Amino acid sequence: MEKIVISGAGLVGAFWALAMKKRGHDVELYEKRSDMRLDSADGGRSINLIATSRALNAFSTVGVLEEVKKIVVPVTGRMMHSLEGDLTYQPYGRDESECNYSVSRALLNITLLNEAEKAGVKIIFSHELESLDPDKGVANFSGNEVVFDRFFGADGAGSPTRKELLRLMPEATESVDFIDSDYKELLMPAGSGNEYPMEKKALHIWPRGSHMLMALPNLSGSFTMTMYLPRTGEDSFENLKTKEDVTKFFEKFYKSSILHMPDFAAEYFENPQGKLGTVRMSNWVYKDKVALIGDAAHAIVPFFGQGMNCGMEDCFYLLSFIEKHGESWLKVFDDYDRYQRPNGNAIADMALENFVEMKEKVGDARFLLKKAVEHQIENLFPEKYRARYGMVTYTLIPYAKAQKAGLIQNEILDELTKDIQSVDQLDVKKAESLINERFVPFLNEEGIQLRRYQEGEKPRYIS
Ligand SMILES: Cc1cc2nc3c(=O)[nH]c(=O)nc-3n(C[C@H](O)[C@H](O)[C@H](O)COP(=O)(O)OP(=O)(O)OC[C@H]3O[C@@H](n4cnc5c(N)ncnc54)[C@H](O)[C@@H]3O)c2cc1C
Repeated sequence: MEKIVISGAGLVGAFWALAMKKRGHDVELYEKRSDMRLDSADGGRSINLIATSRALNAFSTVGVLEEVKKIVVPVTGRMMHSLEGDLTYQPYGRDESECNYSVSRALLNITLLNEAEKAGVKIIFSHELESLDPDKGVANFSGNEVVFDRFFGADGAGSPTRKELLRLMPEATESVDFIDSDYKELLMPAGSGNEYPMEKKALHIWPRGSHMLMALPNLSGSFTMTMYLPRTGEDSFENLKTKEDVTKFFEKFYKSSILHMPDFAAEYFENPQGKLGTVRMSNWVYKDKVALIGDAAHAIVPFFGQGMNCGMEDCFYLLSFIEKHGESWLKVFDDYDRYQRPNGNAIADMALENFVEMKEKVGDARFLLKKAVEHQIENLFPEKYRARYGMVTYTLIPYAKAQKAGLIQNEILDELTKDIQSVDQLDVKKAESLINERFVPFLNEEGIQLRRYQEGEKPRYIS
């Protein structure tokens, strides 16, 4: 039994504390903020997230999936809202069973904190990491010295643990790149009988070129709306100065949404404007003492819905390497850094690509044709082909391999769509032979199985 100290009781820190406690360690979890379960200002935040295969696999491995499933809403596809108010539904997967789960970040955090506490984790709120001396095994939280055998930094995108690692390892580097769009959240309340004002099973998107609005269902019948908009320029946060500006803007671009949002203009000025960026770090571990997990290691933009999923997968990989090496931490940390860091970089890249895709390409006829063709060949050849989106979202294929697969798929789709105008003109024989020639050998070479992650299946530890 070791003394494990974790900085940050967000989603990933609370989950990792539970995982470590279940392995029999003495776990202390420190959190800068007060207890969100008591503080309604924090606990009531509306932010919601999409949980997919990777988070579900981690939850299942640590025995918390059933608790989490009590607070989710299944989402089976995207509903696109055109400027004219037309709706187009695109299923996410091959069928309705391939769904994602919308979950409130606050509720998920509360569930994980409760489970960690029940298991015996000691949680210390309102204590902030100030300094770290891993070689001596001592950390300082708000003036209190805390000793540890192993230390995990789960303290988010601005991670103070990461800053300490940069100080300790002069060769280490970090990069922090913000995109030119910020986000703001608004609420679409439930109808009078708590009914959902729009299709409940969908992630709704209003793509408008340089900006977009998204909506995810909450358990209560409401939707959390997130608007992504450039900071400056013609259509931008900078230019929405008054209630009239906001009303005009929403009437012009997001008219179908405001039918159900009576207070959007007032709320717009009450809710904060958040920044979005990518954080990369060259070293995720320090000797056998410290490891970064979650956003502390890899904050990414939210356009693949994978930030938290990747953080949970960090924990799953750590558990895999503990299965492999026992608590031989130098080997565990070494494997974790070598194996998962490229995956963190890959999902960071893919999330940025999705940002461009969602902003600029969803209205592009060529792009839509490629997507339609891809959906078709995925259904025709399910054993040999799965779109990158599905690999990331429904399987446990490492992100870096899914990224490589996506490059080959793009070439195949370019080839298949170059001489056609609609999906009925697809040359199915050509599609099959291209898949056989280019994609199947890649899958074999990389040892990739396209099989979907089945909820609750036995953990497939990485060896
Ligand atoms: C708009 C938006 C939409 C998103 N959508 C999705 C999605 O659909 N799916 C998905 O998987 N991900 C999504 N994400 C990403 C997801 O929110 C994050 O990846 C996830 O919350 C990271 O969890 P974490 O525990 O690593 O970090 P955090 O949630 O940031 O938690 C870090 C914790 O550390 C604490 N802390 C900070 N400093 C200190 C200190 N000095 N001492 C002690 N504690 C400290 C903080 O108070 C906080 O509680 C989205 C993000 C955004 C912004």
